[in-house]
Amino acid sequence: MQNKFLTIPEAIDLEHNTYIKAHEADPHAPKGRYICRDTRCNKPVKRILRDKTCFFRHYPDEGSVSHSKSQELHTRAIHEICNQFENVKKYGLTMPTFQLNTKQGIKEIVPFLSNFIIKTEWPLGKRFIDVAILDSYNNPILLIEVLHTHKVCQEKAADIDQYPWIEIKAKSILSNQRVLKIERHHRFPQEYDDFFQLDLLLH
Ligand SMILES: [Zn+2]
Repeated sequence: MQNKFLTIPEAIDLEHNTYIKAHEADPHAPKGRYICRDTRCNKPVKRILRDKTCFFRHYPDEGSVSHSKSQELHTRAIHEICNQFENVKKYGLTMPTFQLNTKQGIKEIVPFLSNFIIKTEWPLGKRFIDVAILDSYNNPILLIEVLHTHKVCQEKAADIDQYPWIEIKAKSILSNQRVLKIERHHRFPQEYDDFFQLDLLLH
């Protein structure tokens, strides 16, 4: 039986330091040019063409792979965000973009971060943050909460009030990991907060 986890639609192209879709990949590329974009793996992958469909696959001699196989939406979405930021650090890929509604319409923000650390389930007081982007001293730069079934409640919002935080829907992360659509934000960046407060009052 075909294991669907072995079929990878997109990889990292180490020659151009970009993500690449399987149908755009060079079938004659040497081993090592394309690697798995899962940061727990990052092993070389090869392009396969089968029944007119292209995909990447791990080389059989690379041994077992340690992908997150969780079927749980929330866990997968958290892992996808981590992949995006970790691959920026490891391979110089472009940052994911944050998209948010503002008074002037939809804005896209590309974060400029250096020397950052990504942590999941990061403990903050009695709370756990889904994804925390920290500076090199472990101070929070941005806290990311992945929205699946529960929104950030008022109590949690109060507990993390002093830090910039955003909330993103798990489904939207899985449909596009490169453009992270912000549902709610706080202190991110400061000038957008007034609009968010106003928006809250209107609903
Ligand atoms: Zn892999």
